Amino acid sequence: MQQEPNHGDPGSGVLEFPDQAVDGDLCVLGWAIELELATPEQVLRWAHGRWGRELTLATSFQAEGMILLHMCHELGLPVRVVTLDTGRLPEETFRHIEHVRLHYGVEVEMVAPRASEVARLVRRGGPNLFYASVVGRQRCCNVRKVEPMGRALARTPAWLSGLRRDQTPTRDVLNKVEVDRVTRTKGRLVKVCPLLDWTEDQVWAYIHEQGVPYHPLYDRGYRTIGCAPCTRPSRPGEGARGGRWWWESQTGKECGLHVLQPR
Ligand code: SF4
Repeated sequence: MQQEPNHGDPGSGVLEFPDQAVDGDLCVLGWAIELELATPEQVLRWAHGRWGRELTLATSFQAEGMILLHMCHELGLPVRVVTLDTGRLPEETFRHIEHVRLHYGVEVEMVAPRASEVARLVRRGGPNLFYASVVGRQRCCNVRKVEPMGRALARTPAWLSGLRRDQTPTRDVLNKVEVDRVTRTKGRLVKVCPLLDWTEDQVWAYIHEQGVPYHPLYDRGYRTIGCAPCTRPSRPGEGARGGRWWWESQTGKECGLHVLQPR
């Protein structure tokens, strides 16, 4: 007979599902339902209670990632921290990472794309192929982001992401706990998004109230920060991610880390 999951307090980290007895996807869906109304802190405690130091925060050190890092620090939840060095990041990002590293006393793993794949990409399409076509842009994101992220999370059971539902229509359908079929196609990887139901205003209210260090480009009009050639300050009336790949259509813009793209 199938065991019932333990519907414990999500904040106590005691929510347990017998993985062997329950289908994995249903198990994760059960967690998502349990945690839908949980606060970010409760979700973090729950995830850390389950995966401990194996829990990985993958962040580009934007505002949401900084909040998760800050909360983990305040709650005394040590996690592995990884970031992608795509080879096209702005210098401000490196200075921000260095500041954060010293401020919180954390080690940051910087994962780079494979040099041979970058060389082939650039040989075929040129260094700025992303401006020429959406396909070229997706190829660049695959080489510089998606493949390295897959490597970074290869031995990780679960990772933390700062996604929010109101960022894009494709993120609006996500759960706080999901089976990640994008970053890893084989084996089980769970993605946990504690800030999924927060708004941009909540993010900035928390950052200012708690004194969380934030990326300096926000003070220059950016609302999203990624690779230097593909991000610019936001313009009036643009959505939160309007400054990304602004030359493309304004809907459904993703790099492939969270939504499947053609490879
Ligand atoms: S954001 Fe731009 S530079 Fe960065 S990986 Fe994607 S296409 Fe390449």
